[in-house]
Amino acid sequence: MRVGILGGGQLARMLALAGRPLGLDFEILCPAPDACAAPLGRHRQAGFYEEEALRALAASVDVVTYEFENVPAETVAILEGRVPVYPHPRALAHAQDRLREKTLFRDLGIPTPAFAPVDDLAGLKAAIAEVGLPAVLKTRTEGYDGKGQFVLHEAGQAEVAWTAIGRMPAILEAFVDYSRELSILAVRGRDGEIRHYPVSENTHEQGILRVSVARPGDPLQGRAEELVRRLLERLDYVGVIALELFQVGGELLANEFAPRVHNSGHWTIEGAEISQFENHLRAVLGWPLGMTDPVGFAAMVNFIGQLPPAEAVLALPYTHFHDYGKVLREGRKVGHATVRCPDAATRDRAIETLRGLITQL
Ligand code: AMP
Repeated sequence: MRVGILGGGQLARMLALAGRPLGLDFEILCPAPDACAAPLGRHRQAGFYEEEALRALAASVDVVTYEFENVPAETVAILEGRVPVYPHPRALAHAQDRLREKTLFRDLGIPTPAFAPVDDLAGLKAAIAEVGLPAVLKTRTEGYDGKGQFVLHEAGQAEVAWTAIGRMPAILEAFVDYSRELSILAVRGRDGEIRHYPVSENTHEQGILRVSVARPGDPLQGRAEELVRRLLERLDYVGVIALELFQVGGELLANEFAPRVHNSGHWTIEGAEISQFENHLRAVLGWPLGMTDPVGFAAMVNFIGQLPPAEAVLALPYTHFHDYGKVLREGRKVGHATVRCPDAATRDRAIETLRGLITQL
């Protein structure tokens, strides 16, 4: 079987690495000449609006999936009807627009921070009155890793905030004083079967994920599963999904979802019976889903902008090194390490050791 992937970054690379042992071949459509997934399959170096390349991809693969949520609607329109595309593109329309996404959560009874749409400066002032302060102004589209966001502490900052995000259609959200950031990854097969991974507890710095710790048996596991199930069923979703959540008291508030494999699930490569990457492929191909049970006490530490020397990481016990083969650049996710340990104390020490290595760079 041949799988087409839109996008050629590390997520596509890890999908291909997971699929090769299953006998799968990959075609990677990505305009970047140095796409880090390219060595794992056939690289179709083309843009997402290039109709000829998209038709050729559709003709030569059994299914198409994607590794990023900003796949243009035009791209999907060209592919649909020629080849199955999973997850179904209807998920993209919601994930690409924070207002639609939050409105969907609200329709599904999934709690969110208070929010209001913002279309101009006057609208921002009205939204501040409605949502309260502190609040975070986010562009509706094209924001990721904390980009296109501005935190407001006082109403006098409205104009600065509006300019800072580029005077684009936006959403104002209450700034949540959360105790933890969690995500739940789940997979739904073509037949509607759903499986969940244990929730991940995530630490972000400057809006970028730094550390994810798998939390099997977390008291909020059941609630997280219930929330993500509503989303999967409403979207008739196929594949892996990630729902990002804030814990406030004993409740979870949804921040956003990603219709794809997710950075907070990289620990599943070594720390779960079957990884998020293999399960995503199984789902989009209509194959039986794999077990999502945790193996040991797992966590992941991201390498951002810089990589520690391989020898230093490889010398650590219980530690697995992933180098994405990318050119190093500030703010870029260039690799990660997973730890899979026999107990929680060893895991926490391993995380600290890795974080220590990073601060030495
Ligand atoms: P996002 O791009 O929406 O995932 O936001 C990136 C990060 O900013 C999140 O992981 C949080 O750490 C923080 N953040 C986003 N929205 C809020 C909010 N409403 N309240 C508090 N922190 C937030």
